[in-house]
Parts: sequence; structure tokens; C-alpha cells
Amino acid sequence: MKITILIISFILGTIFGSLFNVLIYRLPRDISVVFPNSSCPHCGHKIKPYENVPILSYIFLRGKCSACKSPISWRYPLVELLTGLYFALCVYFFYLKSQNTIFLDIGLLVKTTEAIIFGSILIVQSFIDLDWFILLDSFNYGGLIIGILFSLTSYGFVNIKESMIGVLTGGILPSVIYFIYFKVRKMEGLGIGDIKLLAMIGAYGGGFMVLGAMFIGSVLGLLVAIPMIVKNKNMQFYIPFGPFLSIGAILYMFSGNILEKMLWI
Ligand SMILES: [Zn+2]
Repeated sequence: MKITILIISFILGTIFGSLFNVLIYRLPRDISVVFPNSSCPHCGHKIKPYENVPILSYIFLRGKCSACKSPISWRYPLVELLTGLYFALCVYFFYLKSQNTIFLDIGLLVKTTEAIIFGSILIVQSFIDLDWFILLDSFNYGGLIIGILFSLTSYGFVNIKESMIGVLTGGILPSVIYFIYFKVRKMEGLGIGDIKLLAMIGAYGGGFMVLGAMFIGSVLGLLVAIPMIVKNKNMQFYIPFGPFLSIGAILYMFSGNILEKMLWI
């Protein structure tokens, strides 16, 4: 039974991942999300429903457009796989693991849904950031409001007070760092979008999640940046911080709010 639920969650996740691919491609380009139907960017070939099955179509088409044989980016199946795994992981961690009866547990369901929405926003934002070095305000503000709304139910990750502290921590702390960095180096160390993203993360998971996301995100970011700095000295390059903060927030979420627990030991 649990395996069946996990498989269904995974498949549902890949379908959402397919939708996220559309959002990641179209939103920054200002193309309508609902119309027109997906087509090959090289030859305009309209993608048929059977060519649009998450992950599987990519394998059957061997990563090429069926009409012009142009390569299809491996990012598409990657986003689908990632979203599928994330959905299944959330259902396992926040629902199945703590669910002992066969009856529907509304509280766990709300929490699982919250985790899925939170991660979904971060997946879309991260891939847009990788392509365009921007984080969309609509998702930052929308996510922030959704996070606060979840905190108003008694089943969310945090209560309303913790959520508000989270928004403030996510908004103020990186702003101070931004300001100091700007004064010292006369350039932006992190983007305004990153600050809004951290405020959104705070609305979902509270101040500790902001700290966790910033710490893990910075360590991961440095691990990627140091080899790049060594390779091309004096070269200016820009690494989007959004994906690292997102990975940090998700890892922190799955750690079960480890910072807060350590504080009370
Ligand atoms: Zn084509």
C-alpha cells in the first residue's frame, strides 16, 4: 500500500515537473502559459500528446525532436525526475512515516501539501535563476503569502509568530549583508531577488530555516565557486545564488529543523 502511494506520488510529481518545464521556459519570456501548445523551438513541430509523457518520451525520442532531429535539452527529463522524486520524498517524510492508521490524517496532509508547494516554487525559481539570473517576484511574493496562510492553519511547519519572525529574518539579515558588501566592495554580493526569496523561505519555515538555508547555501555556493575562481583568475563571473539557497532550504526542511533542536539540547 505504501509503495503504491509512493509510486503514484512520483508519477504525479513528474506530471507537475512537465508543467514546471513549461513555466521555466515561458514565464521569463512572457509567453502565455496556457496557449499555444508546446512546440519544438527549432522547427515549430507541434509536440503530440504521446511525445509529452514525462521522462518516458525523452527516452523513446532518444532526446531528439521527432520532426527535425534537433536535440531536446536533458533539462526537461531532469526537472520531471527531480519533481517526481521530491513529491515522493515529501509524501514519505511528512505523511507515510508518521501515519499509523489507514485513515486520512488531515494535519499530515496539510503539512505534506505545504512541503510540496514550497519545493515546487523553489524548483521553478531555481531553474529560471540558472537561465536568466533572476528570481520572479510573482513566485517570491506569492510563496510568501502562501507560507503565511499555511502558518495560520494549526498544521503548518511553523505558527504565525514564527512565520513573521521568518519573514523579518529573511528580509533584514541578508539586507544587512548586502549593504555591508556593497559598501566594502562597491558591488552586489547577492541580489535583491535572493533577499525576497529568503523572506519567502522564512514565511514557510521560520527564522531558523532562513539561517539554515543561508549557511548550507553559502557552503554549497563556495564549493562551486572556488574551482571557478582558481580556473579563471581575475575573470568576472556570476553564479546565481537562488538554486543554492533553495537546496539549503530543502535540506534544512528534511533535517527536521535541526538548528532549533540543537538549541534546546
Ligand atoms: Zn524540431
